[in-house]
Amino acid sequence: MSDTFDLAVVGGGMVGASLALALADTLQATGRRMALLEAEPPQSGHSPSFDGRTSALSNGSRRILSTLGVWDQVLPDAAPISRIHISEQGRFGAARIDAAEQGLAAMGYVVPNRSLGEALWSRLGPPPGVSLYAPCKVLGLAQDADAATLTLDDGKTLRARLVVAADGAQSLVRAAVGVSASVADYGQVAVITQVTCDRPHQGVAYERFTASGPIAVLPLPPILGPQRVATVWALSPAEATRVRALPDGAFLTELQQAFGWRLGRLTLAGERLAYPLALVEAAQTVAGRVVMIGNAAQGLHPIAGQGFNLGLRDAVTLAECVADAFATAEGDAGAATVLARYAAWRRADRRLLISFTDGLVKLFGARFGPLRTARSLGLSLFDVLPPLKAALSTLSTGGGSELPRLARGLSLRSL
Ligand SMILES: Cc1cc2nc3c(=O)[nH]c(=O)nc-3n(C[C@H](O)[C@H](O)[C@H](O)COP(=O)(O)OP(=O)(O)OC[C@H]3O[C@@H](n4cnc5c(N)ncnc54)[C@H](O)[C@@H]3O)c2cc1C
Repeated sequence: MSDTFDLAVVGGGMVGASLALALADTLQATGRRMALLEAEPPQSGHSPSFDGRTSALSNGSRRILSTLGVWDQVLPDAAPISRIHISEQGRFGAARIDAAEQGLAAMGYVVPNRSLGEALWSRLGPPPGVSLYAPCKVLGLAQDADAATLTLDDGKTLRARLVVAADGAQSLVRAAVGVSASVADYGQVAVITQVTCDRPHQGVAYERFTASGPIAVLPLPPILGPQRVATVWALSPAEATRVRALPDGAFLTELQQAFGWRLGRLTLAGERLAYPLALVEAAQTVAGRVVMIGNAAQGLHPIAGQGFNLGLRDAVTLAECVADAFATAEGDAGAATVLARYAAWRRADRRLLISFTDGLVKLFGARFGPLRTARSLGLSLFDVLPPLKAALSTLSTGGGSELPRLARGLSLRSL
């Protein structure tokens, strides 16, 4: 027997779990039902989303997480970013964006993905109206006029009027509904780890462009160890394999050479993980009763730390469209009008962040010629032009689109 839900969210990673939480109160208030299906057992430590990475969260994301009631739990594990420092190896000049100069308490916050996962999943516990299927892998999907039918890995099926694909960049749901995704391989692999430095990081986040690829160095909170930073080093696949296999001492020497001495000597490296980097872009975000959000809609290079920030805005915008649909007589969250509203609302923000991130990778990936000169000029100009800095610091709040209620600190029920 199939069970029909008002909506089913496939994938309980960073974005899917955020959406589920965003809708929890609405489900309770309206008596609607949601299924949340996640391939990995929650909080088992095996989640590909809540792994050993750290994420730089924008102020906009912090506000959303506060409205969802998870920020207080995340806060002890979060490091505020007081300044962003951008430089290029072998070139003079750097660009700096200072939170205080922008009138902000912080430019953003660095949070371990695991802490975020624990906070989201502990609140999903499950609230009334949410049926958790975890571990449970979705294997297939078919649609008719009234609902979509999901096939699960235990052989059972489940029907839902709306299916949300939050199952990551390799989305099975996206493929099952026949939506193509363009994949532009950057020919880079991100090697991430955590290291200790012998000078205090003072909350500064560094982006350093080197001949071998960009390195991001992000401040971590004291709870993770004194003077600890997270590093994301994008390298060619062959270099990434070589660097990952180095003994700690040799790894630290190479990292130090590429990053420099701004944080003093780097010591005590942690576990090294690797992520192949590509721009994955779904041709459309809606297909019938299916909507794609987060990495299932767009997977970005981490150079600007925008993937989850953008995906979280997907989640809270969709939550508002669904909540508004529940308030209508028809109450069908998968109706074409509801999903068309969502797709139109997200178009500009999505486009802007995809182009911005991809443009940055290409600009700083260029080794020779006019692009290299342009970016040196760009860094110098950027450092002296306050409007450019202000534009960048507001970019990550929503790219000029109307902000959904949860991003304005309002509940879904307040109009
Ligand atoms: C090295 C690196 C650094 C990054 N740094 C930042 C940063 O600083 N700031 C930022 O904003 N973003 C950052 N990102 C991007 C961010 O990690 C992603 O945007 C985010 O993880 C997307 O979340 P998601 O929930 O959409 O997808 P995922 O994290 O891929 O989660 C998908 C979930 O779906 C589940 N799933 C998959 N298939 C199925 C199925 N068939 N059935 C059921 N469940 C399924 C998976 O188990 C998983 O839990 C970074 C990415 C990388 C690679």
